[in-house]
Parts: sequence; structure tokens; C-alpha cells
Amino acid sequence: MSKPHIALIGMGLIGSSLGHALKKHDLAAHISGYARSPETRARALQLGFVDSVHDSAADASKGADIVFFNTPLSSIKPLAEEIIPVLDDHAILTDVGSVKKTVLDELTPLLQGRIHLVPGHPIAGTELSGPDAGFAELFDGRWCILTPSGDTSLIAVEEIAKLWRAMGSEVEFMEAGHHDLVLAITSHLPHLIAYNIVGTAAQLESDTRRDVIKYSASGFRDFTRIAASDPVMWRDIFIQNKEAVLEMLGRFSEDLTALQRAIRHGDGEYLENIFTTTRSIRKSVVEAGQDTDQPNFGRDQTPKN
Ligand code: NAP
Repeated sequence: MSKPHIALIGMGLIGSSLGHALKKHDLAAHISGYARSPETRARALQLGFVDSVHDSAADASKGADIVFFNTPLSSIKPLAEEIIPVLDDHAILTDVGSVKKTVLDELTPLLQGRIHLVPGHPIAGTELSGPDAGFAELFDGRWCILTPSGDTSLIAVEEIAKLWRAMGSEVEFMEAGHHDLVLAITSHLPHLIAYNIVGTAAQLESDTRRDVIKYSASGFRDFTRIAASDPVMWRDIFIQNKEAVLEMLGRFSEDLTALQRAIRHGDGEYLENIFTTTRSIRKSVVEAGQDTDQPNFGRDQTPKN
């Protein structure tokens, strides 16, 4: 494929980052964009990460070689139903959704044997949303997991893999169900725990809650960052990855009960063993280049005035 026409459906954090990265690396002949609100569409043009904006997803997708869905998971199927009838034969649909099996299951029956589907998930993001949150380097050195079915054209799969590599990502292929299980423990459960702990703090009496916020740097602060993530996006993730999340939550609850028992019985040896194992996992994460070993996660220590 020569330089493709790419349509961005959804222009929030991920959509705008895609637009910036495609522009920075000069990967598209034309980038068209759609978002629900006129405000986001106007802002996208102003920021310059798209060449044209359209007030329907179908208009934005007409003539596109590749269409990226960058919207909440629950909106992907209705958008695909709207777009597919206007797409040229052999166009490629892809997405960035955080759950993969539902995308594959919902979209495969809609393809009419003439459209390719290559679901994807960049393991990159921040807790911010909207068109102003995006930046070209978001995907640099980050994994992008592609989960095409075994029947997908290898040319289409390679086309999408090539784009992600050109935007700085490392590409990995996975079966969709396996992706959802891995992400349930690495991403979805940590978010659920953060939402829960911050939710518990929110219910405390007001004077205790004030002190929790005042002394939050002792650990709570890191949970608040995760718990500030977009409510609609995360609602959809838990609903669409129900089975894998419940499986991991079951294991988590058993392990938590064991820790609770060890604390109750003063079993220091059990606690120390667990904490020694978890410390070695942290070391592996840093060695795999997935975080910095700087003190305080590399945060600037200078006091702010
Ligand atoms: P975002 O910043 O909130 O942007 C969402 C975009 O989708 C906006 O342009 C919004 O339009 C549009 N949209 C929302 N609901 C829609 C609907 N019902 N129909 C049509 N358009 C709609 O979200 P994001 O963080 O970029 O996330 C987008 C996708 O990326 C999600 O599926 C998420 O699972 C996945 N993802 C996110 C992250 C992350 O860290 N955030 C990481 C990896 C993957 P308006 O601006 O007009 O409201």
C-alpha cells in the first residue's frame, strides 16, 4: 500500500496521539477525523493532527484505506455498522480498545467478506482524556498488541503492524482471549483496586478524609492517579472483560484473605516471604524497561511553590 488515507474515529487521548504520531512520521496521505462533539472536531483541526473533520463517522471513513476506532468499547459496534457500508473493498478496520475478544466477536460478522479486521491495543496511555491530551511520542517504546483472527489477510495484518512500528511501538501478536486475561491482571484489576481504595477514602468522615489527602504522598497518591481515569472507558472495560476480571478478582481475594490471616496471627515469616517475592517482580518490571528505578518513580522532588 502506498501512503494510506487514514480515518480516526474518536479524537481523544489515543485518537489525537495517533494523529500527531502519523503526522510526525509522515505516514498518511490524508488523515480524516470524526468525534461526537463539534467542539472536539474544531479543536482537532486547530491542533492540526487531522487534515479534515466530518460530522459523521461514515463521512470521515469514505475513501479511507485504514479506519482506527479510538472511542469507548461500547460505541465500536454501532460505529462499525454505520461505517462498513460506505467502505471500499479491502479497507482495513482496526481499533485501540482495551478489551479484544468482544471487538473480534462483534465486528467479524459485519465484515461482508470484503473488509479486513485487525484489532489492536497500544499498551500506552495516561489518565487524561480529550484532544488536548494527545502527543506524538505516546507510543514510543511501548508495546502494541494485535489480535487478528487466524483467517485475517496477512497483508492487512502486516500493514497495521508496520504503521505501529513506524510510530515507535513494538508489536506483539496474541490470541484475543489471552490478551484479555493478561490485561485483566496487569491493568484492569489494578484499576479496580485503585477505584475501590479511593472510593473507600471518599466515604470516610470529613476530618479523616482531610488527613488522608494531606498525607497522600505515602502511597495513596499513586492510587488517586489511576482512579482519575475516564469513568466511561473503564465502565466499558469491566463490562466487556467480565469473565477474565472475575477470574483474577477471585484469585486476588483468596490471596488477600491469606494476608489478612497472617496479619491477624502475627505470621511475620509469611508476610516477609510475600513482600520479598513482590520486590523481585518490581525489579523484573524495571529490567524489562517498563518503569524507571529512580526514587519516587522518577518524579521531580523539587518542592512546588
Ligand atoms: P477519550 O480521550 O475520552 O476520547 C474518546 C473519543 O471518543 C472522543 O473523541 C469522543 O468524542 C469519542 N466518543 C466518545 N463516546 C462516543 C460515542 N458514543 N460515539 C462516538 N464517539 C464517541 O478516550 P481515550 O482515552 O482516547 O480512549 C479511547 C479508546 O482507547 C478506548 O476504547 C480505550 O479503551 C482505549 N485505550 C485507552 C487508553 C488510555 O490510557 N486512555 C490506553 C489504551 C487504549 P467527544 O470528544 O466529542 O466526546
